Amino acid sequence: MTIRLPQEVRLILDTINQSGQEAYIVGGCVRDCLMGIAPHDWDITTSATPEEVKALFSHTVDTGLAHGTVTVVLHQTNYEVTTYRVESDYMDCRHPSSVSFTRDLHEDLLRRDFTINAIAYHPTEGFVDLFGGQEDIHQHIIRGVGAADERFQEDALRMLRAVRFATQLDFSIEPKTFAALQKNAPLIEKISGERIREELGKTLKNPHHHRLHLLWASGLLPHLLGEDAPLVLKQETDLIQALSRLPKQTACAFAVFLWPLPFASAKKILARLKFDNKTLRAIETVLREKALPLKKDVVFVRRLASRLGLDHCRYLLLAKQALGEAEAAEALTLLSAIEQNGDCLTIGDLALSGKDLLSMGFSQGKQMGETLQAMLEEVLCHPDHNQADFLRTFANGLLQK
Ligand code: ATP
Ligand code: MG
Repeated sequence: MTIRLPQEVRLILDTINQSGQEAYIVGGCVRDCLMGIAPHDWDITTSATPEEVKALFSHTVDTGLAHGTVTVVLHQTNYEVTTYRVESDYMDCRHPSSVSFTRDLHEDLLRRDFTINAIAYHPTEGFVDLFGGQEDIHQHIIRGVGAADERFQEDALRMLRAVRFATQLDFSIEPKTFAALQKNAPLIEKISGERIREELGKTLKNPHHHRLHLLWASGLLPHLLGEDAPLVLKQETDLIQALSRLPKQTACAFAVFLWPLPFASAKKILARLKFDNKTLRAIETVLREKALPLKKDVVFVRRLASRLGLDHCRYLLLAKQALGEAEAAEALTLLSAIEQNGDCLTIGDLALSGKDLLSMGFSQGKQMGETLQAMLEEVLCHPDHNQADFLRTFANGLLQK
């Protein structure tokens, strides 16, 4: 089989080759092409040093020079070109403490995580597949490159990546690789929250949820979730089913995953995973409100959307629906209607503003605040009352009380 390369990728390979150095596409893009999936990016591996690569192209960005990665920009698209490297001196089961470059492709392929990710391809030379990656793709198997035990000890994140690729690609994990994973599972505690968050997020949002039992069977959860892990472990079937019903949305996926935990434990785990503020607030809001009984009532849903905001309200209802709460589906339908109608949900959406109230003789401060709040309450119950005339009369009525 041959891979049809985008023109720009071919140009990068040819340019590097003409300078006397080797260059191949490698990793996820080769794997995806072999599986008939369109790659989302094209990674290039080369014997040329970063400086040599930079000298060959007019527009490059120093993305990760220390790791040998230069981004070549062609026609507004980025292509990562990384020098063959050998990683040595893994400290503490994490990233290597030093990276050395090599001119030998084989050495570069040896440091890669799984056989399916360690295939290089060149348009005239074909595939360089030293570890049977093509056969493993064919058989739908995740298998470590070399001795799985050592490879997981070098970089413990690979264990979570094994589960991630299994769920993403609908592959099984080869028994020896999985046994090594289970044995080394405690080492995941050494990995930074950011790296765990990325892989765990991709795992939870994957399209092949029936493979998620691998996460439960991996032995990783007690080391990712701490002492309350048994609460999540116990609910394997329900949680996997719920995850399979969710849209691919990070906040929803993590909220459902952590649902069985007491809020304080979930908060601790979320802090360790170093989410951006927006995602963190979304997940925490859903978990804080998880016990809220729902009503199939449009005013109830409008009030909820007003209090939580539309997005957080939707996430909460989606999570509850996925977990089988009967009222959630109807509440979601009501929420869609509320959104479509553009119902007023905040003081900022009121047809009468604080400034209008001032000109009507209201005084700034408590009186104004309470009046705006009362007007919002009114239009949450009666959206058609969100008209300046109506609200003026309504506010004046309050003034006279
Ligand atoms: P995706 O489609 O998710 O991007 P990918 O295979 O490209 O999949 P990346 O995380 O982008 O995955 O990594 C690119 C390549 O780098 C991998 O295919 C693999 O060869 C190598 N790699 C990435 N992380 C590791 C790791 N922790 N240990 C060894 N090799 C790794
Ligand atoms: Mg990639």
